[in-house]
Amino acid sequence: AHLDRMAAVDTDVHAFLHVNTDEALAAAADVDARRAAGDELAELAGVPIAVKDVVVTKGQVTTAASKILQGWVPPYDATLVTRLRAAGMPILGKTNLDEFAMGSSTEHSAYGPTRNPWDLGRIPGGSGGGSAAAVAAFEAPLAIGTDTGGSIRQPAAVTGTVGVKPTYGGVSRYGLIALASSLDQAGPVSRTVLDSALLHEVIGGHDPLDSTSLAGRATGYVDAARSGDLTGLRVGIVKELGGEGYQDGVRASFEHSVDLLRSAGAEVVEVSCPSFDYALAAYYLILPAEASSNLAKFDGMRFGLRVEPEDGPLTAERVMAATRGAGFGDEVKRRIILGTHALSAGYFDAYYGSAQKVRTLIQRDFAAAFSQADVLVSPTAPTTAFRFGEKLDDPMAMYLNDVATIPANLAGVPGLSLPSGLSDDGLPVGFQVLAPAREDVRLYRVGGVLE
Ligand code: GLN
Repeated sequence: AHLDRMAAVDTDVHAFLHVNTDEALAAAADVDARRAAGDELAELAGVPIAVKDVVVTKGQVTTAASKILQGWVPPYDATLVTRLRAAGMPILGKTNLDEFAMGSSTEHSAYGPTRNPWDLGRIPGGSGGGSAAAVAAFEAPLAIGTDTGGSIRQPAAVTGTVGVKPTYGGVSRYGLIALASSLDQAGPVSRTVLDSALLHEVIGGHDPLDSTSLAGRATGYVDAARSGDLTGLRVGIVKELGGEGYQDGVRASFEHSVDLLRSAGAEVVEVSCPSFDYALAAYYLILPAEASSNLAKFDGMRFGLRVEPEDGPLTAERVMAATRGAGFGDEVKRRIILGTHALSAGYFDAYYGSAQKVRTLIQRDFAAAFSQADVLVSPTAPTTAFRFGEKLDDPMAMYLNDVATIPANLAGVPGLSLPSGLSDDGLPVGFQVLAPAREDVRLYRVGGVLE
């Protein structure tokens, strides 16, 4: 049914870069056979899923939406993919994204943008616009996203879906094509909070192949999503996230969701996180710095594309320059240049060093806020889905869309975005819930009540 739906709508939506029809059908048939044989199956066995194309899948093309990886077939599975397969979940295909997950609109994909199913003239968010649009358009019931600065939560917000960025280290990064290693985190995309909880329990938990993986198993999310009770819970509204620059309709939807929390028994307080005002600036130094290092491996020799210079000697350096010149898009080049500049000897302390200090201040703000409230809430993004091209020529305007999601990545804390109705423009608005590190259960407890 999902493959049929894809055939009907994906020419318009373009959520998928690659569709694995034969493999998905074989995996589904395998589950049927095991069920018929009376085998005990995992809860999500047979439920198909879409995977963002920045997560490696053995034997299936993985491009990170970049020309530099065109046609690259990984020789191994990411740990989270191994877990999906072990649970009997057929992988429908790989979803579109901004190249190497850099962007907020999916317009930076080298293979053309994804369109928002609510209005095909508008962006589906980014970088994980493909995963969010696939779920919103009923092409997949579940999807995997990655969130380095909001790429699961912001696309969920503007497509009316649910997206969860787990605690840093909660889901293995083994097999994710790294953007910024200290910020990256994979997580679920779904249409309900309960569905995200079910998927989170499948993909989460310790992985010895990831040195930053947290100890322990991923449990308790499904129970929390079903608990339906907020008595005694303190909810903190973050003063710095929601004022100037936030669309009126976004603020109105946010207030409405906060009222719902109050009527479910939560106590609502206001908290202040003054350093959040500097989060965006710090992030756009730390991310490019780490990205410039992670992307150095795309050198025209090890993976994917190789372009030889048209004339002159065929040295390694010149092949690398020609390959990177042709293979990387503008946004990727912009960030590599920014990152190498921020890390260069003369500027390291002024830029990268200062950004790391701001990161510490943000972590302290979170610690102080969580001493006053069990969870923090804000709108997920300042606006609803914008039109194609609206922010494409203005990187700063594009970056500002991440203002509410970035602090969580800088501190490693978990965040969830769920629909909070429609704005006055008729488009979906996202409501963000943040919890202390390793307290992802609180996201599901709150989210379960709101949906
Ligand atoms: N939009 C943010 C950026 O461009 C977030 C990216 C992400 O989370 N992968 O960096």
